[in-house]
Amino acid sequence: MVTTEVTERSFYEKVLEATPRGEQLRICLECGNCSGICPFGYLMTYPPSRLIAMLRADRFNKVLETDTVWMCVSCYACTAVCPSKIPLTFGLMTSVKEELLLAGNVPPELQTALANSQRYGNPQGESPRKRADWAKDIRPEVTVMAQAKRPVDVLWFVGDYPSYHPRVQSTTKAVAKVLNALGVDFGILGPDESSDGDSQRLAGERGLFEILVGKNGKTFSKYQFNKIITTDPHAFNAIKNEYPQLGISYPVQHYTEYLTERLDQLKPLLKHEVKAKVTYHDPCYLGRANGVFDPPRTLLGAIPGVELVEMAHNHANSLCCGGGGGGMWLDGFQWEKAHVRMSDWRVREAMTSGANILAVACPYETPRFEDAVKSMNGGGQLIVRDIAELLAESIG
Ligand code: SF4
Ligand code: SF4
Repeated sequence: MVTTEVTERSFYEKVLEATPRGEQLRICLECGNCSGICPFGYLMTYPPSRLIAMLRADRFNKVLETDTVWMCVSCYACTAVCPSKIPLTFGLMTSVKEELLLAGNVPPELQTALANSQRYGNPQGESPRKRADWAKDIRPEVTVMAQAKRPVDVLWFVGDYPSYHPRVQSTTKAVAKVLNALGVDFGILGPDESSDGDSQRLAGERGLFEILVGKNGKTFSKYQFNKIITTDPHAFNAIKNEYPQLGISYPVQHYTEYLTERLDQLKPLLKHEVKAKVTYHDPCYLGRANGVFDPPRTLLGAIPGVELVEMAHNHANSLCCGGGGGGMWLDGFQWEKAHVRMSDWRVREAMTSGANILAVACPYETPRFEDAVKSMNGGGQLIVRDIAELLAESIG
């Protein structure tokens, strides 16, 4: 049994006071919408509405004896449907995870990712010196800010998985190809870049998040640029919504927004047909959390030959891939509890939509969905591609 110093009442007060709009917790209607929509709510001993009931009953220490809050992947669905506008994902759930971390009630794989983030600046434990290795063969040469020592128009915050993951690197190279084709003056931070910290924050590690923000903020201040673009919706969410609260404010766009604004220049470059039925998966932190639904669809619609079809769950109602908010580092734990992956559900839905290609715009999704495709009967027909890869293919 896990013991803790936290008193039940003090935790409730802490969440009420320390969370932006935390006082909203007092007006929970007990409608149960949050627990009903939670994809793994059926496996949680205390899904969001029951957590609130436990806090109100001064029984929070009972929660700390359980571990199923770690089934939460911060998908934002509960927050989006709450009629009382309670900040459940980034208030209640992250605060409970924080207390579980303090109590030592944390799955080992998550602990490893958090320790790596602190030590190496990325959850995979890769060498920071290798952060720009993906760019070695790209021509024209990618500008690394520390070496170039010149201002650029766009600072591209590449991110952890786009920098290091062998599969996601092909998306990263595709983004570079599209930016080069458009003649964008961009630079990357390379070894100077640290994890954006968003998933660590959502996994309850606020302190680590602030360390990572501090490092990135210091790095940003060394260079001159007009705006930041990101490959990763989590980096986009953090730099847009969370960094400013810590005094670090820069204009930021996800790459799909940036490219959509340049559609007039991009369209004439899309010369090759990609003849396919394509369905698009809305990432939680691009769509539901930040309202960016149209730019990815606009880009796909601009590719000659593409026929866009929607899955049953789309836009704000999209299903989660299971990778955000620490989900990437909880796969073993969640498999033991659920014997199913969220990515399996999503791929099954893509297959029934009649699409040949499942298009994504988040680096967590390509490897997760490709794994799901491999393990699924008949899934071999479905191809997973980031939107940047489809654009690069059309450019040729
Ligand atoms: S954020 Fe998503 S996974 Fe977490 S409790 Fe809410 S609905 Fe469930
Ligand atoms: S959806 Fe909001 S109001 Fe309804 S039970 Fe959940 S937290 Fe309470």
